[in-house]
Amino acid sequence: MSTSNLAHEVLNVLQLVVGEKNKALHEPSFSADDQQSLLECLKSGYVSTVSNYSTEFEREITKVTGAKNVVVLINGTAALHLALLGIGAKDDKEILVPSLSFAATVNAIRYTGAIPHFVEIESDALTIDVDKLSNYLRHTMIRKGGMTINRFTSRQVIALLPMHTFGHASRIDELLALAEEFNLQIVEDAAESLGTLYKGKHTGTFGRVGILSFNGNKIVTAGGGGAVLSEDDDLSALIRHISRTAKVQHAWEYFHDQLGYNFRLPGLNAALGLSQISDLNNKVLLKRHLYSKYDEAFASIRGVKILKEPQYSYSNYWLQTLVLDKADLNLRNEILAVCTNEGYGLRPAWYPLHKLPYLNQFPSMNLEVTENLYSRIINLPSSPQIVS
Ligand SMILES: *Cc1c(COP(=O)(O)O)cnc(C)c1O
Repeated sequence: MSTSNLAHEVLNVLQLVVGEKNKALHEPSFSADDQQSLLECLKSGYVSTVSNYSTEFEREITKVTGAKNVVVLINGTAALHLALLGIGAKDDKEILVPSLSFAATVNAIRYTGAIPHFVEIESDALTIDVDKLSNYLRHTMIRKGGMTINRFTSRQVIALLPMHTFGHASRIDELLALAEEFNLQIVEDAAESLGTLYKGKHTGTFGRVGILSFNGNKIVTAGGGGAVLSEDDDLSALIRHISRTAKVQHAWEYFHDQLGYNFRLPGLNAALGLSQISDLNNKVLLKRHLYSKYDEAFASIRGVKILKEPQYSYSNYWLQTLVLDKADLNLRNEILAVCTNEGYGLRPAWYPLHKLPYLNQFPSMNLEVTENLYSRIINLPSSPQIVS
């Protein structure tokens, strides 16, 4: 089989921009401060779920994001799970969610028993297409006593769950207006967008509730971890409560007032997250610089484009994204094969969630853009240390 020019041109760019080090898709990097922080946590003896480091980490996240309340948890998926329980997600409630996302987004909906209802994205921004969604809701929903009911399933639609794809903010103002009109709560999956601002304000702080992730491949890692952000004191308190087995505080009694979870972030993870997050701004700048380098290098190559932040987004460029001009699965796979073979950590977009065997029976808009983009997107090596 002869390989196309384009695959080799992409490889040339990677050799030029990335070189021989930091070839992975996204690698964490650790400083002497990180080691120090972990060591101090060990010495404190409080390495587990009761630790000042968790409180300190929450305070730092509050500073960085401007969120009123922050609860740190074991990972982003658990954060989304509890955020959804907190807003009343349960059996027979529907939640509008893009199909282009990591499986965890929709898994968290399913953990609560609620039903994902898949919505379309824009091809330029990879986030929810608000015009199409607005039009769709007008034709698909009935308003009844302040509730929004899906006329085809008779289920109530309670929330809209935007995801800030690869670190680019969704059209938040338009989503908020639509959510208000249809009486929907907004739950932001900001797992990928720590450091990303929408019109100057941090993503994850616009909806009723938002979540972050500190997984090893995210811009800031705690080894594993997540956070729930909310302006709502009661909602935050509820999420904190159920994350620690719903035990009612008492000097000796083990009284649990509802079904709870063991989702608190251990101190060791918080200690790492705390020192890592102090370097966030620097990492965002490096990743934005990496974007410029890729953009420049790909400018002269026909048939592909590097995804640029929309003008309302100050993006963290969590994952750099190459988009083929035309849907061509063979070409996409060839680029992946040629570059992967040389050790570069490329990957395609997630398989469209609405086509996965355990999710394909759930309601959905027409998702032709999502399906088309699946054969056009390739994420490129994106570690900040590539340009440091
Ligand atoms: C990483 C990620 C999550 C889950 O975070 P974990 O900390 O890995 O559980 C959820 N949603 C999206 C979009 C993500 O990228």
